[in-house]
Amino acid sequence: MKTKQISEHIWSLRTWMVIPIHVWVVVEEDGVTLVDAGISLMGKGILNFIENLQAGPLKRIVLTHGHSDHVGAINTILKENSVPVFAHSIEFPYMEGELAYPGRKKPAQSIEKNVAQPLNVDANDSLLPIGGLTPYLTPGHSPGHVVYYHTKDQVLLAGDLFTSKNGKLHRPIPMFTSNMGEAVKSSEIVRQVKPKRLEVCHGNPVINPADHLDTYIRKTAEAYSIPEQNVFKG
Ligand SMILES: [Zn+2]
Ligand SMILES: [Zn+2]
Repeated sequence: MKTKQISEHIWSLRTWMVIPIHVWVVVEEDGVTLVDAGISLMGKGILNFIENLQAGPLKRIVLTHGHSDHVGAINTILKENSVPVFAHSIEFPYMEGELAYPGRKKPAQSIEKNVAQPLNVDANDSLLPIGGLTPYLTPGHSPGHVVYYHTKDQVLLAGDLFTSKNGKLHRPIPMFTSNMGEAVKSSEIVRQVKPKRLEVCHGNPVINPADHLDTYIRKTAEAYSIPEQNVFKG
């Protein structure tokens, strides 16, 4: 597993299984937050990394979504550290195997019931910050997909909202994407928060991604015949 500090508070941990798979460790005031949990063989490596970092104990795991390549190490980690696991409430029936992800034939359970809990929301159902991270609902790749923005470091941990190619934003993996049009619409989050750096699970980082957003939207909408009114927010 390759590890790299990408900003003042954030480390990225990468393994490779056909495609690159990243998770992120965020240093908080009270310990560390793990963003996504990769595949099962990353479990020991993640635990060792956190121990060696000496930035305090693991306090929580937050998930971008429930696909199996984002939750794989949870059991190994929870055996050593009993910490809460958070995901968006919309994602639960899919990852817990009650419903098939849109576009998939069968339900597939990727996480056992009662392991995860919904991200906290305020009275208006807006997602509340968790540690130094602010979650945003960005559906499309999966119905309850969220990205996490680290305001202080100006880094957007974008999960599978995108992949990247030649340092630019690139569409999420089509075979595993529930609704490409919706994913493209959700990419507007990049214009909203204007991160200095954007990280994706399956690819290299994108620097100043807002600069490439229009090109990304145009290219992807064209390639997937997405009607314009479905892409640009009015
Ligand atoms: Zn995914
Ligand atoms: Zn993925």
